[in-house]
Amino acid sequence: MEFTLEEMREHLAALEARIGEACKIAGRSRESVKLVWVSKFHPAEAVENAISLGATDFGENRVQEAELKFSAPRMAKDGSRVRCHVIGPVQSNKLKKAAIVADCIHSIASIEAVEKLERVCAALPGENGAGKILDILFQVNAGEEETKSGLDVHEAEAFLNDLAAKAGAASDGKSENFPHLRFRGLMTIGKNTGVAEDSRECFAFLRNLQQKFLAKGGAFAKFDQLSMGMTGDLEVAIEEGSTMIRVGTALFGERDYNR
Ligand SMILES: *Cc1c(COP(=O)(O)O)cnc(C)c1O
Repeated sequence: MEFTLEEMREHLAALEARIGEACKIAGRSRESVKLVWVSKFHPAEAVENAISLGATDFGENRVQEAELKFSAPRMAKDGSRVRCHVIGPVQSNKLKKAAIVADCIHSIASIEAVEKLERVCAALPGENGAGKILDILFQVNAGEEETKSGLDVHEAEAFLNDLAAKAGAASDGKSENFPHLRFRGLMTIGKNTGVAEDSRECFAFLRNLQQKFLAKGGAFAKFDQLSMGMTGDLEVAIEEGSTMIRVGTALFGERDYNR
C-alpha cells in the first residue's frame, strides 16, 4: 500500500529530524544537503504527493520509469522546475534517453559513456538550441561489493586523471572536448551490511577523492557534489560530507518490486 499524503508528511517530518540532527552534529547547514526523493517503484501519484510536500529533486534507477514520470516538465512548490536524477546504471543504448529526461546522471563509470553523452547532449536542443548541458557524477564502487556497479575503487583516481587529459583545455568546469557535460562530483552506495557505521570509511574515501579533483580546477572546477547516503546510512554520509542524500524507503515506504 502506498502512503497517503498525511503518512508521507509524517515520514518527511521524521526524516527531516534525522537530517537536521546529523547536520547539527557535523556543524553543517541544512541547506548544504540536498534531499533527492527516490521514487523508483512508486506510482506517479506518490510523486505528486511528494511535490505537494515540497520535493524538488527525484531519483529513478531505470530510464524507462524516469521517462514515464518525469518527461513532462512540472513545477515544484518553490517555483523551480522539478529535477530528475538518474541514479541507476545506464546501458549504452539508453544513454540518449537518460540524457533527455535527466538533469543529472549519478552513475557514469566509463570514458565511453562520457564520450557518448557528449555527442548525445550536443545534438539535443537544450535551452537555447545549442545543445543540452548535463550534470554528471561518477559512481565509485567504494563499498567494494561484487554486485554493485561503478568504478573500481583502486581505479577511480586513474580514471579521473584520464578524463582530465581527454577533456583538453578547460576552465571553470567547462572543457574543450566535453562542452555539454559538467563533471559535478562522485556517487557511491554504502556497504549493505545493515550497520551504517560500516560505510563511513567508503564515504570518507569518496570525499577525499572528490576534494582532490575539485582542487585541480579546470574541468573539475565544479566538482563539488558528493551523492551518498540512503535511508539506512544518511547520518554517517552527512557527517562525511554528503551534499546529496538519495532517500526512498524513509519517504515512500517499502517498494513493491512486483509493480
Ligand atoms: C533505491 C536506491 C536508493 C534509495 O534507497 P533507500 O534505502 O530506499 O533509501 C538510493 N540510491 C540508489 C542508487 C538506489 O538504487
